[in-house]
Amino acid sequence: MQVARIKVPPTAGLRLLASDLLPWGDANLEDALAQWLKVPATQLECSGTSALVVALRTLQKLAPARNEVIVPAYTCPLVAMAISQCGLQARLCDLSPQALDMDEQMLRSLCSEKTLAIVPTHLGGRVADVRVAQHFARMVGAYVIEDAAQALGARVNGESVGMQGDIGLFSLAVGKGLTTFEGGVLVARDPQLRSRLRVTHSRTVGFSLGWELLRSAELAGYAAVYRPATLDWAYGAPLRKNLAADDWITAAGDDFDAFIPQHTLGAWRRRVGVRALKRLTSHLAQAQARAENRIQTLAQISGVEIVRDVAPNAQGTWPVILLRMPSRVSRDALMRAYWSSGLGLSLPFVNILPDYVRYAPLLGRAVLDSVMIARDWAQRLVAISNSEWLTDVQFERLCSHIAETATHAP
Ligand SMILES: *Cc1c(COP(=O)(O)O)cnc(C)c1O
Repeated sequence: MQVARIKVPPTAGLRLLASDLLPWGDANLEDALAQWLKVPATQLECSGTSALVVALRTLQKLAPARNEVIVPAYTCPLVAMAISQCGLQARLCDLSPQALDMDEQMLRSLCSEKTLAIVPTHLGGRVADVRVAQHFARMVGAYVIEDAAQALGARVNGESVGMQGDIGLFSLAVGKGLTTFEGGVLVARDPQLRSRLRVTHSRTVGFSLGWELLRSAELAGYAAVYRPATLDWAYGAPLRKNLAADDWITAAGDDFDAFIPQHTLGAWRRRVGVRALKRLTSHLAQAQARAENRIQTLAQISGVEIVRDVAPNAQGTWPVILLRMPSRVSRDALMRAYWSSGLGLSLPFVNILPDYVRYAPLLGRAVLDSVMIARDWAQRLVAISNSEWLTDVQFERLCSHIAETATHAP
């Protein structure tokens, strides 16, 4: 059997140039990001998960009697890990049948005087409706943390996501756009809350030479291999191996380490970030143009549904184009046939949180929360890479495979 060489990464990451890696230059990534996002200030952490831990610990101090954090049942397992690490209880909100966002009725019913925070999530660059979460949070005196890990650069009413809630977080992990290999960004509208976030950071996060050396080496490695010629070795070969073992969780990158490192983000990686950030606007604009173009083709395939921004007046980002297939059977058939064929197919997350054997224990009694619709979403979603390296010819082929699978599978 001929094996296709994979030259398309699962998301449209921002490629690094050799000149980004110079050892000198401006290291003030916090100010550069604040200017770019048009927000008053940003705070850097070593990952999006670590940023969430800092946010949760800050809110815990403000409201020590509250211990529940409401998250969508379909989100990154790292979110459940951060909540558990803070000694807090997750509550799972089901998704709406119509939109990739939390179900309003269920969100309302989960809110109580025990709620510390609600975490609306902008998955795959699609902008969730934070106003709903904000409304219910205000009613019970809880906070809103916007998880914009996958949506750096997304805007709503002309303003960056992350600024409607009390705290917003972005990820600078590989594959999520701008990257320092791992990294996280916190934003907050209220100056007092921003200074509290800084206090939590200075009390709980320190420099670690070991982690910084590792991450620096990983970032240099990423810069070296994130190109079509080496992607098959770095991404394709492990993917084929995991799929051959029927290990979808590892294939989708959902196999997270149980330990959440917390340390500062070193000066060299910040400098790389400052230089790469200068190209992010044009990178995102090109990605948006490509996505809009391709969505027109995808919209003609009957039975599949393109996932759109939920919030009105939103301009999301396009690391991937998310599609909802007509059924679990057709989704699984599509993935089994074409995941490893180099056409940019992947899954955002394989499961809803309680369906991961490995992460369910972190949820405590939240495994009993009702999540039927989120499970249906998880079983029918696919992500199409919006990488510039997915050619029009490949995209057309992918579309015909999707059309075929959508009509023939039950
Ligand atoms: C990736 C991700 C995180 C965690 O960010 P890291 O930088 O990988 O730690 C949190 N939430 C969502 C929705 C994510 O996709």
